[in-house]
Amino acid sequence: MSDSTNQNFKPSLNHDDIRNFEPVDNCLDGKTILVTGAGAGIGRVAALTYARYGATVLLLGRTSSKLEAVYDEIESMGGKQPAVLPMDLEAATYNEMQQLEGLITKEVGQLDGILHNAGLLGVLTPLEMYDVDMFAKVMKVNVTATFMLTQALLPLLKDAANGSIVFTSSTVGTHPRAFWGAYALSKQATEGMSDIFTQETQNTSNLRFNCINPGGTRTNMRAHAFPGEDPMTLKTPAEIMAGYVCLMSDASINVRGQVVALQPKD
Ligand code: NAP
Repeated sequence: MSDSTNQNFKPSLNHDDIRNFEPVDNCLDGKTILVTGAGAGIGRVAALTYARYGATVLLLGRTSSKLEAVYDEIESMGGKQPAVLPMDLEAATYNEMQQLEGLITKEVGQLDGILHNAGLLGVLTPLEMYDVDMFAKVMKVNVTATFMLTQALLPLLKDAANGSIVFTSSTVGTHPRAFWGAYALSKQATEGMSDIFTQETQNTSNLRFNCINPGGTRTNMRAHAFPGEDPMTLKTPAEIMAGYVCLMSDASINVRGQVVALQPKD
């Protein structure tokens, strides 16, 4: 696996530093971070972890009951009061995302980071047989909605001192693999989007755009993709959080345009 996409930056931290980051308490204090797909899997644990390190977390997802459960967990551990933002990224319009920007501006007043984590696996099948409606759904959730939400929230992010946008890729995004269809293509597009945003903002703003590839992680999506696999052989989301915290913290302000594989031997 290549360790980085955009070669124009010499980041202060290398990928090992990011993977093995040791966060200090309150390293996200004062930051407001939006997490998509915050109700389950990696996104749920990332939201809890960001709150644990002092961030105000905005919980975006399509199942309100799951987001409310995460809200309750954050409150009960004494974290800053989060917000629940129900949104189905498959159906959401650009207008709704602009309204969300207005709501965050009015109610919260700032946005320092987005973790674009929500994702749809689709089906594993040859492209020749890939259902075109499913293809469109996967591309909408994984690529188009990610682009739309980023663009809609850019005015707020640009006001942040050191805004960080983290996209989620996958090993099949870096190395497309037979039968991974729309999912692999969507993750390739995600890596490209991060690289293009990086090039377009590098001289004009403090915003940074990077991709995380979590690697095989014990979640429902992984179980669907690999039904024969023993989940106990996989890391839990909690075990890969160092990189997620690092890319949101000011330790990574010089890290731009990278694709960071959290489990590079995956
Ligand atoms: P997961 O357990 O399936 O969780 C996916 C999350 O995305 C859920 O919270 C889900 O909400 C949300 N989501 C799906 N469709 C949505 C929509 N239309 N609108 C809003 N939210 C939606 O998956 P995961 O394993 O945690 O994956 C998280 C990210 O890591 C994904 O981008 C995935 O591609 C990537 N990834 C995972 C692995 C792995 O091994 N787990 C490896 C490489 C990359 P609901 O719970 O309400 O359905």
